[in-house]
Formats: sequence, structure tokens, C-alpha cells
Amino acid sequence: MALDNLRTLYQQVILEHYKKPKHRGKTDPVDRRHRGHNPSCGDTIELTVQLDAAAGRIESVKFEGEGCAIAMASADLMADAMIGKTIAEAMDMTQAFQTMMKGEGEFPREHRKLNVMQGVAQFPVRIKCATLTWHTLKAALEQPTLAPIDEFVSNEETA
Ligand code: ZN
Repeated sequence: MALDNLRTLYQQVILEHYKKPKHRGKTDPVDRRHRGHNPSCGDTIELTVQLDAAAGRIESVKFEGEGCAIAMASADLMADAMIGKTIAEAMDMTQAFQTMMKGEGEFPREHRKLNVMQGVAQFPVRIKCATLTWHTLKAALEQPTLAPIDEFVSNEETA
């Protein structure tokens, strides 16, 4: 496929997730929660996570917030990929996403949908938009219990 067509395809997938997110809202119950903010673009996000404690797996991730198409689409794609993952797997995927944003590597077939964000790596100012949801997820999962609602992670220092 020509590079231009490929770019258009990626943009379409991103816009589709932005306009028709599947994972917008709040989980019930809320087992983990965190807020994230990307000052350079103005994206804000609040993630809620439902855990299956017995199985040690993520049952559902949902997001609320306002932001650009890349930030919101990234949150929706991430939430989709997290269903049924262990916390360790989720942390590994967070790392893999950061690596992909450096232009190195991509996700295997099982999670190839996340690779639509690969194109963002070419636009350094938008990388923080794409990684915001992953930073926020990591912060939520690193907590042993439910965090107070006023805590939030800013990805400004990770520039
Ligand atoms: Zn943004």
C-alpha cells in the first residue's frame, strides 16, 4: 500500500475511535482510578479500571475527559486492548507503546490495532497526546488501592 494511503487509513481509524468511542464512561465498580493531564495540548483524561481480583486481570478500562482526536482515540484503543490483561501484561504494553512512540518496534498481531498510533511518532508535539492515557493507566495500576480523585499525573516531566 502506498504510504499516503496508509496514512489516510490510520487517520480514519483514529477519527473513528474519536467520534465513536467504545470505552467512554466509568467502570462499575471503580477499582482503580487516575487522572492525567497533558499541558502542552490541554488534554485531560480520567481513567477508571475494573479489576477481576480473583483472576488477577483487568476486566474493563473506561475513560472520560476532553482532548484532541489523538488523545481520545489513543485512550479508546488502549481500553480495548486492556480487556483480560494481567497488570504485568498491562505494564509491559505501556512500555511497548513508549518504545513505539520512539519509532522503534510495534505491537504483535494480537494488538496490531494499536499500531495505528505509530504514525504519531513522526510528530513529536503529538506524542504526549498519544501517551497520556498510557501514563495515566500506569499510575492507576501502580496504586495498591483506589486513589483519591484529586490525584493526577502530568506527563510534562517525561518530555
Ligand atoms: Zn492532544
